[in-house]
Amino acid sequence: MKHHLHFASRRNILSLLSLLLTLVLISCQQETKSGAGEEAVSVADSLAGNSMPAQEPDYTPAQRDSVLRVRAQALAQTFIIVDGHVDLPYRLQNKKADISKRTEGGDFDWERAREGGLDAPFMSIYIPAAYEERGGGRELADRLISMVEQIASENPDKFALANSPEDVRRNFEKGLISLPMGMENGTPVGGKLENLDYFYKKGIRYITLAHSKSNHISDSSYDPEKRWGGLSPFGREVVRRMNSLGIMVDVSHISDSAFYQVLQITKAPVVATHSSARHFTPGFERNMSDEMIKALARNKGVMMVNFGSAFISDESRKLWDSAKTVADRWAQEQGLSAQDDRVSKYREQYFHEQGGRTNVQAVADHIDHVVKLVGIEHVGLGSDFDGVGDTLPEGLTDVSDYPNLIYELLKRGYSEDDIRKIASDNIFRVWREVEKAAGNTAVQ
Ligand SMILES: [Zn+2]
Repeated sequence: MKHHLHFASRRNILSLLSLLLTLVLISCQQETKSGAGEEAVSVADSLAGNSMPAQEPDYTPAQRDSVLRVRAQALAQTFIIVDGHVDLPYRLQNKKADISKRTEGGDFDWERAREGGLDAPFMSIYIPAAYEERGGGRELADRLISMVEQIASENPDKFALANSPEDVRRNFEKGLISLPMGMENGTPVGGKLENLDYFYKKGIRYITLAHSKSNHISDSSYDPEKRWGGLSPFGREVVRRMNSLGIMVDVSHISDSAFYQVLQITKAPVVATHSSARHFTPGFERNMSDEMIKALARNKGVMMVNFGSAFISDESRKLWDSAKTVADRWAQEQGLSAQDDRVSKYREQYFHEQGGRTNVQAVADHIDHVVKLVGIEHVGLGSDFDGVGDTLPEGLTDVSDYPNLIYELLKRGYSEDDIRKIASDNIFRVWREVEKAAGNTAVQ
């Protein structure tokens, strides 16, 4: 095992887990009334990830389940978990909170991240689409970046910045949660390639080219008006410069044409930091079609699955859309502006009442789908925590819940190697390839 567990907090968690394991063993021995010694060995083997012996003892389904639960917990703590997209900075911009402690609202804080085994959530430096016209996108980006820097500097025993997979690994070994940064929406680039250099120096390691509206770089999946038929001429330059700097190109949010154009231009693998499979949400361009997933795999890229229910099931997505109509009508009746917090609460409440939430199994179905289509090397996790409101699936409602997903994958026969790839190896591979390609371009 090349995993490093030399620090106190993780050791505490592991001793807690071994206590749990002991309890599971005791209950197995009590209930099955067969050779306890043998059984203890095989349960320990299965927890260590070794193959089960040919003569498997007769566990009850409940016992088997407990073993898998404990094993999922242990794997979440042992493996590095990277999440492609967490909207914490914008959440804090709207409402301050001390995330070094457990917070009332929101999906992310130190304590819950520790429980869930989350090690490197990409902090989304999110710039709303309106800034393209309004201006001030660069200033907002600077503010959000400073906020992330401040979280790290004020809590040096808990968080640290990270500009590379090696930084993430080093922080992990010290028991720190890494806060790598990605920018959602290329608006702050402001038509100047030098700004890419500027943001690279500030630690931005991916850029989602556009958000909900087409911008000066790329068309957006959400925008019916496809201004450029894909990328703008400047957008093509942006992709090249990102390649030569070592910034990952994030293809989430952009239109299908823009996606294929990026693949033609890029010299490095790309990432979809928070997109799910369109197979389950036909016609929803924000998710990736099978053809796109195959093209992404040929590029050696990775698709990090979005957990939001509206990304996971067609029914939920339609319900989320109709909830907006209902909430907008209600807002009008109440004389509230559409931006009012109460309106989004109303929408979420309606969504829940109508049974809009999906579950952790449905998220695992998306992972299965990508794996069946292109193999285990091209899928990761991009929750969109703190970004999709109260629409998260049962069993995946905040950063403490990654073990539930790992449990579901174990249940479906995923190996430890598979799970490590999904948790971080795949995105690390892409990130390193992007660094390498930048090195090569710089030499030219
Ligand atoms: Zn997004």
